[in-house]
Amino acid sequence: MAFIPEEVIQEIRQQTDIVDVISQYVSLSKSGSNYIGSCPFHEDRNPSFSVHTEKQIFKCFSCNRGGNVFGFLQEIEGIGFVEAVKQVAEFSHVPLDSRYFEGQNQRQDRYQELYRIHQEANDFYHYYLTKT
Ligand code: ZN
Repeated sequence: MAFIPEEVIQEIRQQTDIVDVISQYVSLSKSGSNYIGSCPFHEDRNPSFSVHTEKQIFKCFSCNRGGNVFGFLQEIEGIGFVEAVKQVAEFSHVPLDSRYFEGQNQRQDRYQELYRIHQEANDFYHYYLTKT
């Protein structure tokens, strides 16, 4: 797992208007201070999809899907949280430190190292129990 600090995620959210991101996928029309449109996640005859500008969340009253800007991208693109954070950061031109993603390999390496040690111990005991 890559690790992106919470404050960076908050910053990305603050730099992003969820309406701009969702407008790329859904045709939204203004309704009061919010926006409504046809839900992209199910066959929507009446626009039951709404975007709350103040809370920066979306909600569909028919299929009950809802969430923040990252959740929307995860759902519509079929991607994971980290990938969604990356895409939104790119969209809003928030630079992401590549260190957040290097952690991914280091942690995997450590896991592999542990696995290897475990395997060796296994082999040793197997040998010890069967050959002596
Ligand atoms: Zn829906």
